[in-house]
Amino acid sequence: MDTETRLVYMDHAATTAARADVVEAMVPYMTEQFGNPSSLYDVAKVSREAVARARDQVAASIGAEPDEIFFTSGGTESDNWALKGVAFAHRGKGNHIITSAVEHHAITHTCAWLESQGFAVTYLPVDGYGMVDPVDVEAAITPETILISVMMANNEVGTIQPVAAIGAIARKHGVLFHTDAVQAAGHIPIDVQAMHIDLLSLSGHKFHGPKGTGALYIRKGVQIDPLMHGGAQERGMRAGTENVPGIVGMGLALSLANAEMAEQTKRMTALRERLVSGLLAIPATRLNGHPTERLPNNVNVVFAYIEGESVLLLLNRRGIMASTGSACSSESGEPSPVLRACGVPNDMIHGSLRLTLGEETTEADVDYCVATVTEVVQRLRDLSPLTPAELRSTGN
Ligand code: PLP
Repeated sequence: MDTETRLVYMDHAATTAARADVVEAMVPYMTEQFGNPSSLYDVAKVSREAVARARDQVAASIGAEPDEIFFTSGGTESDNWALKGVAFAHRGKGNHIITSAVEHHAITHTCAWLESQGFAVTYLPVDGYGMVDPVDVEAAITPETILISVMMANNEVGTIQPVAAIGAIARKHGVLFHTDAVQAAGHIPIDVQAMHIDLLSLSGHKFHGPKGTGALYIRKGVQIDPLMHGGAQERGMRAGTENVPGIVGMGLALSLANAEMAEQTKRMTALRERLVSGLLAIPATRLNGHPTERLPNNVNVVFAYIEGESVLLLLNRRGIMASTGSACSSESGEPSPVLRACGVPNDMIHGSLRLTLGEETTEADVDYCVATVTEVVQRLRDLSPLTPAELRSTGN
């Protein structure tokens, strides 16, 4: 690393560091307050009460009742439970599920497995900004439809879906509505009542809580089969000794994120716009996702003529931690299904870069990213045989 390099973490959509106050609140539940919430002595009662407090915090953050919150091991488990649990509990009514082409693998791979079990899945298209049209949702409903699952905000391009409109349609047709709010929680307001949401997935490590923590909101009265069978924890719906420290950390992290949301949204949106305009000043660059209906911390661009992975490697050498936005692309070499669904042209689709800001991101970090990315893109374009002459540096 050269002397001008600074360390800039720009991958908050992948994960976040747990906040110091959150870690501090968790520690006692790993040490002196170690009791199993199911036990009957006093130390167990302390754990039980801590879990109940966290349940209240999570419920209050999304407009739910505490007994509608079920703790899980993360977003992946919550998504699997919502889809498989509803599919099998409602098999007698129908076998059709509606989702979108831009969901996280925790949804799409679960849907693929459900297809192998005899369920039929419709993958709705999105517009150029990655947005689902509620009209398409309504048109896809058949008498066999038992579940609609559309994410609240996209993990790659940050587009916020019209969840309230989709929820209203689902409710009108008597179809259950699940939303994967893993990227949205702690960043944009959520109200499960106003948005007509029946099931909602959360993940603690995306809002400065601990990894391996999550929750599924299940509206009272919704029929769903358990995913985990065993003990009677979580009112008999999710077996396994509760991750008390994790649950405590997740509850506190979500309530703190909600309390600070208005201020952080204002600050991060300004930084996001500064980053977007800096990056779009690079020629042959395009913004992915919706220009305004997007998460306050998400920037996703594509650069023509170069590979996103090469950009990442050079950025890493300059201390910038970022992503192409698509976890699968580095393994399979396949372009991101999300960018493909958004209609990103073939000659640009491999050149994506996702930068996701966090509460510690500063203006100086953003300016360093713009300057470094500009330099790196130019360097790679100078090396690429695909780059047209007018985009090469003078002298090359
Ligand atoms: N859903 C979305 C939209 C995500 O972004 C992620 C994680 O990246 C997940 C689900 C999976 O969450 P977890 O890492 O908690 O399993």
